[in-house]
Amino acid sequence: MTTCEVCGKELDVWDAGFYKKLVNRGAEPKRCLACTANYFRMSRETALGMIRSFQRAGCTLFPAEGEPPLPEDTDRRE
Ligand SMILES: [Zn+2]
Repeated sequence: MTTCEVCGKELDVWDAGFYKKLVNRGAEPKRCLACTANYFRMSRETALGMIRSFQRAGCTLFPAEGEPPLPEDTDRRE
């Protein structure tokens, strides 16, 4: 299991795909979607819009169906 090096969130397919797309396709994912977006100083909406564009373009880093969870929705406290 891989977790975000910044916030400790368990990385899902969206987090991993976004990290690889922006950083390096061959990189080991280290940050969640929210923290990757934050690192590149882009808003949550910008990040989600980019993911949807990649999906539509058929990018294999992301599932063909579905939408990424909003980062604020994944900020669960346990
Ligand atoms: Zn994070």
